[in-house]
Amino acid sequence: MADHYEVLGVSREATTDEIKKAYRRLARELHPDVNPGAEASERFKMVTHAYDVLSDAKQRQQYDMGGSGGMGGMGGAGFGGFGDIFDTFFGGQQQRGPKSRRERGQDALLRVEVDLAEVIFGTHRDLEVDTAVLCDTCQGSCCQPGTSPVTCDICRGSGSIQRAVRSLLGNVMTSTPCGTCRGYGTVIPHPCVSCQGQGRVRDRRTVPVDIPAGVDTGLRLQMPGSGEIGPAGGPHGDLYLEIKVRSDDRFSRNGDDLLCTLDVPMTDAILGVTTTIHALDGDVDVELKPGVQSNEVLTIRGRGVTKLRGNGRGDLRIGVQVVTPTRLDHREKELIKAFAAGRDQKSTQLGSFQQGLFSKLRDRFLS
Ligand code: ZN
Repeated sequence: MADHYEVLGVSREATTDEIKKAYRRLARELHPDVNPGAEASERFKMVTHAYDVLSDAKQRQQYDMGGSGGMGGMGGAGFGGFGDIFDTFFGGQQQRGPKSRRERGQDALLRVEVDLAEVIFGTHRDLEVDTAVLCDTCQGSCCQPGTSPVTCDICRGSGSIQRAVRSLLGNVMTSTPCGTCRGYGTVIPHPCVSCQGQGRVRDRRTVPVDIPAGVDTGLRLQMPGSGEIGPAGGPHGDLYLEIKVRSDDRFSRNGDDLLCTLDVPMTDAILGVTTTIHALDGDVDVELKPGVQSNEVLTIRGRGVTKLRGNGRGDLRIGVQVVTPTRLDHREKELIKAFAAGRDQKSTQLGSFQQGLFSKLRDRFLS
């Protein structure tokens, strides 16, 4: 596909204003009403698409970074520029035939908080959603039961009014939406009372959601078709769930691994001990060898978070923190002194510098 900047004949540093000017110049030359050829029509489409992308700051940024620069995105705002220019030069948006009352419903975004424990295996929620649902009374027809829409007298069902207008391009046929039927081509003489002729009503609905294992804060799950219903029984929009994982007092997360800190009394560290940790998914037996040091990390394979993509689980990583007793009675103090006297141990001295000792707890696990 051709480069959007080349298509418009502007530099990559062009300002929005320069892009707009370039587009206007090309549109005057290539618009189908001025230049009916097939080649011009193709070029006009390319120019318009390039303008749509580059005139939208967000799409332009995506395009510059190598994205598709397409019409996608949640808002589907890609045609904004198109409409602007037609309004400016041609007196209204080109519209062929009447438009439908049926439209797609809007997307919705909900935030869902889950506990870290729920992330390990995934969880279920029944979410209460305020949304638009089909009107029971008219079933989306927008008309009182037994009545139906009638063809608009003013536009005779076409939905638009054609007019010849003098402009800087010469005489141009313009088409504006019919004011009487608002472009629909029909009017509804007896709108449904329940929904005021919208074909849908506000309601609270329960949406069952399976939240997969391994989700993390910021992740968005798309639930196609679970958003609001469109006007006049149009298709449902999508529901997006933005996940927030609540922090846990005892466990932290690094990717698919779970991290925790184990406080080990000095005597247990010296003699070694087998202990049981109450992990988020049940008990884990941990064996500490005699002489275990502070900042040692024990790894329990497969007791982390279930991987969102792929199989298996991460690991549980346990950072040892040896706890030195702070209050000794007289007898204990004598015993420790006797212990120290009996050992030919090195005196206190500088060790090799360990950055990790000074970093935050988390960093210990990453080195
Ligand atoms: Zn209704």
